[in-house]
Formats: sequence, C-alpha cells, structure tokens
Amino acid sequence: MHGVVAVLGVGLVEPGAPVIRADDAGVTRGDGCFEGCRLRDGVIDKLDRHLARMTRSAAALEIPFDASAWAALVAEAVAAWPEPGEAAVKLLLTRGPVGGAPSGFVSIGPLPADYPRQRREGLRIITLPRGTASDAYAAAPWLLGGVKTLSYAVNMAAQREAVRRGADDVILVSADGAVLEAPTSSVVWWDGARLHTTPTGPSGILASTTQRLLFERAEAAGWQTAQTAATVDDLHAAQVVWLVASVRGPVDVVALDGKARARVPEVDAEVRRLAGFGG
Ligand code: PLP
Repeated sequence: MHGVVAVLGVGLVEPGAPVIRADDAGVTRGDGCFEGCRLRDGVIDKLDRHLARMTRSAAALEIPFDASAWAALVAEAVAAWPEPGEAAVKLLLTRGPVGGAPSGFVSIGPLPADYPRQRREGLRIITLPRGTASDAYAAAPWLLGGVKTLSYAVNMAAQREAVRRGADDVILVSADGAVLEAPTSSVVWWDGARLHTTPTGPSGILASTTQRLLFERAEAAGWQTAQTAATVDDLHAAQVVWLVASVRGPVDVVALDGKARARVPEVDAEVRRLAGFGG
C-alpha cells in the first residue's frame, strides 16, 4: 500500500500493517463512522468542519470520540505524507469488538485515479431511486439520517450501476420524486439566479462540508443561495448542476440520464474557485 497510516493510541504504523481486529463491529457490521478530506500541500481543507461532523456522527452512534486526540493524530499523519499537491485523507472510527474498545485510524493516499479526468470532462450522471420517501428519516434517529456511517455498500453498488450503464456517478431520487444526493457527494445547481442545494434533515442526506463552505463564500461574494426541494425536471432546467464533495470538489454534470448538458465555463470556474478548487 502506498500511503500513510496512523492509529489512534499508537501513532504511525507501516501502511500495510493490520489495524482492525477480525471481530470489530466496524468490519462485521459496518458499525462506525468516517470522514473523507482533501490534503493539499500539507494542509487539510476545513479540518475543523470534518472533526465537528465526525463528533456528531460518533455521538449519534454512541461511540466515544475525542476530537483533540484525533486532531493530533491527523497532524502526525499529515507530517509523514511527503508529497506536494493533492491527496485523499480518511478518518475512520469503528465500534470495536463486543466488550472491547473502538478502533480509529487516519490514512492518506493518492487521489482516486478517475478524478482528474472527471474534473476536466465533467460527470455523466444517471438518476436512480433510493426507494424511500423524502421525509423517511423524520423523527427516526435509528435510521441514522445525516450520519456518515461506514455502511456504504449500497452507495458503492449504486456507483457500480452507473458504470454498468456507461455513466460516472448517480443522483439518488426519493420515492416521491425529490432529488436527494449522490452516493458520495451532494447536489448543487444554478438556475441563473441562485445556487441551490437539497434539504437535509427528514431526507436523511448528509450535510456536505463542501456545499456549506461554497455557499458561505458565494453569499459573501453576493450570490443568492437556497435549500430547495427539487425534481429531476428541475435539474434538467437548471443552467449548471454539480456534484460536490471534499476530495473531488465541485464537478459539473455534462449528461443527465443520457441527455447532454451544455457547460457554462464562467459559472463553473467561479463555483470551483469559491470551493477551493480553482486549479
Ligand atoms: N453525501 C454523501 C453521502 C457523502 O458521502 C459525501 C461525501 O463525503 C457528501 C454528501 C459530501 O460531503 P462533503 O462535502 O463534506 O465531503
């Protein structure tokens, strides 16, 4: 394995060293939480927001989380990553074995190989049903809506379905027709007047740190923003649609369900720049 691994309570280990027990519920049940961040030239983007979200995720799962110990572990891992430019950082916390302690580690590795092409060429997206209503998570905390759990098998299966159909990624749609999020990104669109994103809360979707930072900076620069319930037709009508996430950044959608979309380079470039992906 090419990368850096630092284990909570231990420190740096060989990148290929075993770090999780076979009976850890993080492995046997996907019971735990994580964060994915971008490292650029020795600095992690918006680390405070990632640690704050992981604090909330761990609290929702009732797993102890010491944010200052994690900040120190992240700093140790970052100091050991020798390369300039971009890298992908993962913070991962498991519940641990029955009666045992949670495990945590930070890993750093290269960007996914597809990202440079996707950023350059834009994303071909299909929409797929998530199969639940847009308010399915209201007053149902056991469904862990908005919690960044390790249980991403469904998300990965949706992305494989996209590849099978000749696309790059997916936008998930609720049973009642509301646009939700992508398996590893949020949805943002520009209708010519406002930047929009989809509502969190009852929808169960994850609150994106990238979308939040983008909207804060856009508002400071005079843009109008909104949280808007939208249909797929609203996305077809939008001038620009992006998937936004911490490591890939905002990437514009160039085809939606097989329908080509014209790119709008000035708006796209400004959104990427505001989100910290200015090239
Ligand atoms: N939605 C889901 C399901 C995700 O996994 C992610 C990314 O990690 C996002 C949205 C985007 O969140 P962020 O911008 O904080 O990376």
